[in-house]
Amino acid sequence: MITVTNSQGITKQISQEEQEMIRRQGLTMDMFFEMFPNEDNTNFAGMNILDYNGMVDSDFVGASCPRATKDLEYNTRMRNKAIEADYVQYGPLNLADEEYWVRIAEHWNTSVEVAKESRCANCTAFDISPRMLQCIKAGPTSENIEDAEGYLGYCWMHSFKCHSARACYTWAAGGPISEDDVSYEWAEKSE
Ligand code: SF4
Repeated sequence: MITVTNSQGITKQISQEEQEMIRRQGLTMDMFFEMFPNEDNTNFAGMNILDYNGMVDSDFVGASCPRATKDLEYNTRMRNKAIEADYVQYGPLNLADEEYWVRIAEHWNTSVEVAKESRCANCTAFDISPRMLQCIKAGPTSENIEDAEGYLGYCWMHSFKCHSARACYTWAAGGPISEDDVSYEWAEKSE
């Protein structure tokens, strides 16, 4: 058994399997303590986190980690959809691809310079709240969470992990999402 502690200094004993599920679901210790408050690590319905094992790809954690942060295949599928869909056109694949920026500038009827200022990094749907970064770090990923160009966040509009330096046709001002409260609001809206 492993002893874990929440932010209030309360401790609990958990098994290695339970610890692994907490990691896979991207739960913080506070979230785990809240969701499974009983001494035997069960919730109000008498279920332990391991009882949810078969539902790992579902949204059982409610306002917790989105599926794309837990399921690499799903994330890739959603990213490809965002790249291919005429109305999304997520990109550019190669950040030095000027042609992409010319195309997106034409789409928005603006200059390339202005278009380049509208990226995931400042999009209203780009979630880099602490709890979402934890989801991304806890889950499997096929690319670096951070590189020389920027960092990954979660796109609530198209349900995949997008890169701060990229953009898409549906970009909207007002981001990024950097507060957990706002992130949970988006999660509720997306259910
Ligand atoms: S909607 Fe926003 S965050 Fe999502 S891919 Fe487009 S620009 Fe990026």
